[in-house]
Amino acid sequence: MNVLAYARQVVSSRWFIKGIFFVIFVWLCWQLLRFTQWARGYGEFVPRPEAVAGILPIGHFTSFIAWLKGGGWDTLLPAGLVIIIGAIVLSLLLKRGFCGWVCPVGTLWEFASALGRKVMGRGNFRPPRWLDRSAIGLRYVLAALFFGWLTMVSVEEALWFRELPYMWVADIKILEGFFHPTFIAIVLLTFTVSMLLGPVWCRWLCPLGGLYSIFGLASVCTVVRDETKCVNCRKCSRACHAFVDVHTARDVRAVECDGCMDCVKVCPVDDCITPRVARKWRFPAWIWPLAVAGVWFAIWATAELTGNWDTTIPIDTFRAVIQSGLLEETTPGGIF
Ligand code: SF4
Ligand code: SF4
Ligand code: SF4
Repeated sequence: MNVLAYARQVVSSRWFIKGIFFVIFVWLCWQLLRFTQWARGYGEFVPRPEAVAGILPIGHFTSFIAWLKGGGWDTLLPAGLVIIIGAIVLSLLLKRGFCGWVCPVGTLWEFASALGRKVMGRGNFRPPRWLDRSAIGLRYVLAALFFGWLTMVSVEEALWFRELPYMWVADIKILEGFFHPTFIAIVLLTFTVSMLLGPVWCRWLCPLGGLYSIFGLASVCTVVRDETKCVNCRKCSRACHAFVDVHTARDVRAVECDGCMDCVKVCPVDDCITPRVARKWRFPAWIWPLAVAGVWFAIWATAELTGNWDTTIPIDTFRAVIQSGLLEETTPGGIF
């Protein structure tokens, strides 16, 4: 294999791209914990990383919907809005590209399911089709309830929430909650279930995945199967981690498809199943992950260069809020 072919294989590896995003995320979380320690009076100053805003979906989606309703852009913590817009833009261009290649939470559960396959020496257990379909439906019900509830929040309430000091440090509160024994037990339980059944959180429960799936139905790029070339070997369907019946589809618009490219890679017939723009223009499978990463970084860079990424809250204000003891107050669940 020549160097170019090897490079293409590497960049189209889900573990490579997802691994990079996962490592970046863990490093940013570590930086936020160091920033918090500095604010408490220990250690050296490190800049507050903004991208960890992604762990606050309720707060930032509230703010996002307030913006759509005319409540104005969030200048206090704009990174959260940029991440939401980025995930939606990715879905409109490249199916659920955020879920398939970027989201660190999804990467964790996918790692668990891959580990499960390795340990068991077989595929993850597949529930009966009716049960799986019903459980997927649950995700859309949860998404409808979640976003329905958010749309009912008035602009005034959302703006009030946006300006609460609690919101400014909620990412730290959640991050520190990750070390709570109850949270660790929930993660271990989900990890074990994912080893057996695959990424159940992503497949059956995550409302954000449900939202991105809906936007993904309008995706400009899709996987297209050429029926005239297909030999009906079904390798594509067996390789699909989203359980899509690729071998019967023409244009794979399936709501669960996240553009992982596995079906394209396993097809034994040249150019039988290919990613395409607007169903017409074919492009190689390795371009897809590069496009996902490129769009993601372009959105981040645009936000950074236009001053729509970094917080405008002064660093001393963060320090005062952290030192006020707000982080130490317990919430009803006791974890966060
Ligand atoms: S379904 Fe949710 S947790 Fe899973 S990858 Fe998508 S956004 Fe992340
Ligand atoms: S294997 Fe194909 S159909 Fe299945 S999720 Fe990946 S790209 Fe979509
Ligand atoms: S792997 Fe290729 S040839 Fe086999 S069923 Fe799928 S599209 Fe057809």
